[in-house]
Amino acid sequence: MLFKTFQDIKLSSLGFGTMRLPMMPDGSGEIDQAELDRMVDAAMEAGVNYYDTAFPYHDGKSEVAVGKSLSRYPRESWYLADKFPGHQNVHGVTPLRPEDVFEEQLRRCGVEYFDFYLLHNVNESSMKYYGNPENRYMDFFLEQKRNGRIRHLGFSCHADPECLRDFLALNGDHMEFCQIQLNYVDWFLQNAVEKCRILREAGLPVWVMEPVRGGKLARFPEQTEAQLRELRPDESIPAWAFRWLQTVPKPTVVLSGMSSLGQMEDNIRTFSTDRPLSEKEIGLLDRIGRDFARKIPCTGCRYCCAGCPMELNIPFLLSLANDVGVYASMNTVMRYGSLEPEKRADACIGCGQCVEACPQKINVPEEMKKLAEGMKSQKSWEAICRERAEAAKAGRG
Ligand code: SF4
Ligand code: SF4
Repeated sequence: MLFKTFQDIKLSSLGFGTMRLPMMPDGSGEIDQAELDRMVDAAMEAGVNYYDTAFPYHDGKSEVAVGKSLSRYPRESWYLADKFPGHQNVHGVTPLRPEDVFEEQLRRCGVEYFDFYLLHNVNESSMKYYGNPENRYMDFFLEQKRNGRIRHLGFSCHADPECLRDFLALNGDHMEFCQIQLNYVDWFLQNAVEKCRILREAGLPVWVMEPVRGGKLARFPEQTEAQLRELRPDESIPAWAFRWLQTVPKPTVVLSGMSSLGQMEDNIRTFSTDRPLSEKEIGLLDRIGRDFARKIPCTGCRYCCAGCPMELNIPFLLSLANDVGVYASMNTVMRYGSLEPEKRADACIGCGQCVEACPQKINVPEEMKKLAEGMKSQKSWEAICRERAEAAKAGRG
């Protein structure tokens, strides 16, 4: 196993992300604890010492299952990360109290402290909560740090660079690390290159989530796969995403959300060796990444914005449209839901002003229609928040 140094500890480069755990085949919606235990056994044997869960994963069952599985090993042999779901405190849902959530998380995981604790999903929407000093959530978490129940405090972030800067201006002094969505597509698509630069300047090490973009970088059209195989016949397709991370941004921990023992074994193999990519290989992944990212070739110049009668944030909506085309994650739904209803894609009246103004000749009204349709097929973020709040009250989530 490859390791990285963080402050005075040695962390495995591969972390076990537990958002997509193996499920019982009987359709009961329960986590397959026996398979999870086998995965944790393989991970521990290989030296994986970082395990990441969160309050909403599997409606709260991830914390319980992961805590139970890890409890079979000495407490000092693994590091557990959990997250405060401040991102659920939007859209009129009664705010979750940090003290209630935190105690519940310790209870669910069966631990007395968290090695790593993150403010979950800082983005344009959740900044309504995280960006409001009146919430005083930071006082509570700093107190937990002082009394040893949180060893290291950080945050996960899906925001644009501007929002990341705003968060750091407010809370950066208390943060020790940041987890971002990082892979060779989001390097361009979500401007991760700029986010890494901001974090480097702030002196914060980077943790990676979605290294294979929800599995989208695990399979490609035949021609693309053939190009990759020609360069590295012995490397699996998903392994390319990890090799890129090892070579270009070189993060501290890469979290991979694994659902089976097979995936765990494949990742352990990849993270046993450092096989940096050559210039030529990086160039090929750059091309593949840009192809993905430029599905709608918006450059963010904003020439179209001043004349929009509906005052839509067109480049932002197009970046979400790109995301929907590639992989509509929960985060995409949430960022779309952060917009006031009259600023969403279905507010576009199709006047065509933006098409005239756009140097890239993007058919914006058409893309707005597709985005509005794509979002209709997703559960709204407001509905997700409501369900989670109800589940939390009932002690399920
Ligand atoms: S077509 Fe839609 S997005 Fe473009 S300027 Fe008109 S209202 Fe705005
Ligand atoms: S003018 Fe075109 S490229 Fe520029 S922000 Fe608008 S849609 Fe994007």
